[in-house]
Amino acid sequence: MRTERANAKINAYLNVTARRENGYHDIVSIMQTVSVCDLVTVDFLPSLHTSIFLSASGNASMPTDCRNLAWRAAEAFLRRTEQSGTVRICLEKHIPMAAGLAGGSSDAAAVLRALNHLSPKKLSLDELCTLGATLGADVPFCIIGGGARVSGIGEKIEEIPSMPRAILVVACKGEGVSTPWAYGELDRKYDFFQERQPADDRPENLATLWKNGDLSASVKHFYNLFEQVVPTVQKDVDVVKSTMYRQGAVFSMMSGSGPSVFGIFEAMEEAERACTALREMGAVAFVCHPCEKYLV
Ligand code: ATP
Repeated sequence: MRTERANAKINAYLNVTARRENGYHDIVSIMQTVSVCDLVTVDFLPSLHTSIFLSASGNASMPTDCRNLAWRAAEAFLRRTEQSGTVRICLEKHIPMAAGLAGGSSDAAAVLRALNHLSPKKLSLDELCTLGATLGADVPFCIIGGGARVSGIGEKIEEIPSMPRAILVVACKGEGVSTPWAYGELDRKYDFFQERQPADDRPENLATLWKNGDLSASVKHFYNLFEQVVPTVQKDVDVVKSTMYRQGAVFSMMSGSGPSVFGIFEAMEEAERACTALREMGAVAFVCHPCEKYLV
């Protein structure tokens, strides 16, 4: 039996550079895992037939069958390594769902890491990430964690130094956002996806400043293209952001396709006060910090 942390991710930078003929989008993103996490416990017993059992606590609405990405990860791992057996997965959910925090992808990545540890047949990190990409665009990053420049449809990962030590608040209020819907809104707004967009230098600036430990200078290079479409429909995004600023955040931005928002604070007391204020408004809110990559 093995228990893995499945950390949420935030995007310090997220741009969409092109749309492929198959409808997939090319992105450039700086992703960072944060300490808000689900706990994923996996047990594997090789045998002649495959059975996968999944139980979950912390979120009653989550599917516990083959619609769950963690379930699909176990199935994909066994198929790829040509094994059969009984896999038991227990998910303790803390990451809000459909929030732009990659909760499902992180659970799937944790199952892959756990099975690779437990199984007699192992995959290399590259093979594990290639398998992860078949499950979802964010899964390869979630296998590795820490800080990374992510491009392509999510499969190209270049590790960068993690975000310097920071006091973060991650909060989510209101209805979840479907990632395909958010991409659809961008498609409607920008026909420039027909043409590949020129690269900008903010991701490289972020990587350099994080390497130098300079979080405050890096903040002006943070960017999320989805902020141009999601908050107009999901009004709670701006409500959460303005609450963060009112409580002393030095910076706040939506993560991924939303509606979750993160804020950077200089003092723990301010971060805790922001969490209290956000919870009183009905948001789910956590004080957290950036994490280093997993030991895979
Ligand atoms: P992303 O940014 O990668 O799209 P997200 O954080 O916006 O992810 P998730 O929390 O991964 O969204 O959930 C998206 C949908 O995936 C949910 O509506 C849920 O039905 C489904 N899902 C499948 N497996 C899981 C899982 N293990 N945890 C959460 N959601 C899951």
